[in-house]
Amino acid sequence: MKKCPKCKDNMKLVQFDAGYGVTIESLHCNKCGFNITEEGSLENAIGTLKENMSREIKVVQIGNGLGIRIPNEIAKNLNIHKGDEIIVKPDLNGIRLVTDCKHHLNKNQAK
Ligand SMILES: [Zn+2]
Repeated sequence: MKKCPKCKDNMKLVQFDAGYGVTIESLHCNKCGFNITEEGSLENAIGTLKENMSREIKVVQIGNGLGIRIPNEIAKNLNIHKGDEIIVKPDLNGIRLVTDCKHHLNKNQAK
């Protein structure tokens, strides 16, 4: 059993639900509330989360162009709304949709 680095109390292994069937394990101290998430376990969980959120969708015709329908649960999770602007980025595997448009552009301008 690991000891809390702050108060030396025993730490308890806890799991929290990150959604989409992904749980993240971490050590928690009940006495002072100190929390340690094992190195790499958060990245692993995020990787699994992305994988579990992946959906196959159909390309549809919109006017003269093509469109894709963003699944509701992804739109909800990423806070995407009608009228929002997103960046379409060609990628090695296809295209990437970047949602934090303004943040992304500002970051590039700051460099
Ligand atoms: Zn503690």
